[in-house]
Amino acid sequence: APAFNYGEALQKSILFYEAQQSGRLPDWNRVSWRDDSAMTDGNDVGVDLTGGWYDAGDHVKFGFPMAFSATMLAWGAVEYRSAYADSGQLPHLLNNLRFVNDYFIKAHAAPNVLYGQVGKGDDDHKWWGPAEVMPMARPAYKIDASCGGADLAGETAAAMAAASIVFRPTDPTYANTLVGHAKQLYTFADTVRKAYHECITDATSFYRSWSGYTDELVWGAIWLYRATGDAAYLARAEALYDSLGNENQSTTKSYRWTIAWDNKQYGAYVLLANLTGKQKYVDDANRWLDYWTVGVNSQRVPYSPGGMAVLDSWGALRYAANTSFVALVYSDRTTDATRKARYHDFAVRQINYALGENPRNSSYVIGFGTNPPKNPHHRTAHGSWWDNMTVPTGTRHVLHGALVGGPSAANDAYTDSRSDYVMNEVATDYNAGFTSALARLHGEYGGAPLANFPQPEQPDMDELTVETTVMQNEPRAIGLKAIVYNKSAFPARALTTGKFRYYFRPDGTGPVQVTPGYTQGCPSPSTAKQHSADIWYVEVDCTGHTIAPAGQSQHRMEVQFKIGVPEGGTWDPTNDPSYQATAGPNPKVPLYANGTRVWGTEP
Ligand code: BGC
Ligand code: CA
Ligand code: CA
Repeated sequence: APAFNYGEALQKSILFYEAQQSGRLPDWNRVSWRDDSAMTDGNDVGVDLTGGWYDAGDHVKFGFPMAFSATMLAWGAVEYRSAYADSGQLPHLLNNLRFVNDYFIKAHAAPNVLYGQVGKGDDDHKWWGPAEVMPMARPAYKIDASCGGADLAGETAAAMAAASIVFRPTDPTYANTLVGHAKQLYTFADTVRKAYHECITDATSFYRSWSGYTDELVWGAIWLYRATGDAAYLARAEALYDSLGNENQSTTKSYRWTIAWDNKQYGAYVLLANLTGKQKYVDDANRWLDYWTVGVNSQRVPYSPGGMAVLDSWGALRYAANTSFVALVYSDRTTDATRKARYHDFAVRQINYALGENPRNSSYVIGFGTNPPKNPHHRTAHGSWWDNMTVPTGTRHVLHGALVGGPSAANDAYTDSRSDYVMNEVATDYNAGFTSALARLHGEYGGAPLANFPQPEQPDMDELTVETTVMQNEPRAIGLKAIVYNKSAFPARALTTGKFRYYFRPDGTGPVQVTPGYTQGCPSPSTAKQHSADIWYVEVDCTGHTIAPAGQSQHRMEVQFKIGVPEGGTWDPTNDPSYQATAGPNPKVPLYANGTRVWGTEP
């Protein structure tokens, strides 16, 4: 029997993409703790750029890795559609692929205009809270005819072309739409030849186009050939192939790296080998995959004692997973029996390592298997209301299916630390090749996805509360401090129409006086209203004031006031329905949002 349930792993790996959704959530989104967010993306440029995926544990929409992730996911379904169908995961994959491609359609605002980033890296990264209540401006950045990005446009063309193949059997109209965009984007890429980060300079410190754009031009042409059958695209890919990167001081194609968001030439080796059978592509694919398995000229990718192939420190498992998927695609076609087994077994080993077959006997996929990570570097999953990575201590949501970076050196060592974005961040590109590899392994080994999954999460605390403190207990008055708290995360939501009421029983000895006091914003009350024959209340109306789980001061609202009677009267606070002698959460002070009670009880 296989060591792991690949169907369950696949199911969860796809679900991760629903946790990353930006904009209006579709009704099929299954992540109970997410809600609409970033609903004004693109307003600064007059284009609707809502939608797409948050990149990782942050909330920038980086178009370059987003497109790569979409291509890798589509590739899995192009090769292994029946595994998706058999596992019941095809509808989920199609949903998620359509979601991201709908965003690319919006981002491709004109033939030679492609928005390639929304959100400013530094501004986004310095804030730590849930997507639903992000406070920072989110500028949109584009490439166009005067400042291009052949890598970004080429990858987006590849993504849309690959997705068109996946949609063709069930929705040919959508497939044609995608092909139309892919062709235009490819022409744009091939015409305006520039590295995209020279135009979208904000991307430079995050997703700089290190390898240049030739690989995306080859890759995009291959995917357009597969999508259209037009041999001119294959010819274009083959013509550009020789310009792909070589090992230093040689004419040997690069083999000591792998396919990832920056460089797709390794994918081109395999695709062209599979599509044409030509020896040069076969040789390049073999050399690359041998470097990852048996070594080339006595050099091999570093391996940990426990069997993990560790190319680079940051997000190491993602490189192993990407390589595994492409190794499987190649293994399934090659006629070289030795290499077929070698690359297949390599891929199974690496995927199994991530699923838990490793010296720590621990899964690196959140919510899957034994002892999985619990504290990913992921803002929305953490659910801080304090704009702070350490508040609260625990992570409030299970980010099902997310593959963490994993051990950052070839030593099998790992700590489940939220602050460690090298070992413990998650990302749309980490899960992409991984998902496709899982589909392939499900096809071979099976495994049933979980029934009734996922279940909605229940809030871990009272998300909206009012705390009261008696500030003055005087013979003829009570002075109160009331604080509204918003620690919501299921999902996180801003309170903009909050109201709360303090109920009291006048003691019949004089006209009630309400005296306003200190407030952080909501008007402090000066009048009382009658509730019933003997009960009155003061209401604090915070309509128009935002109380959101977005920071230390943003998530709370303090209002003080005093209720009493003039000289000559008497005042007994203890018979007041909202009275609570000790400071703390006071459920006798009901809180309302949009007129609906969300905390506490009325007398
Ligand atoms: C962010 C991560 C990001 C890292 C490097 C951190 O501040 O939280 O999402 O990967 O910076 O840019
Ligand atoms: Ca590139
Ligand atoms: Ca009273």
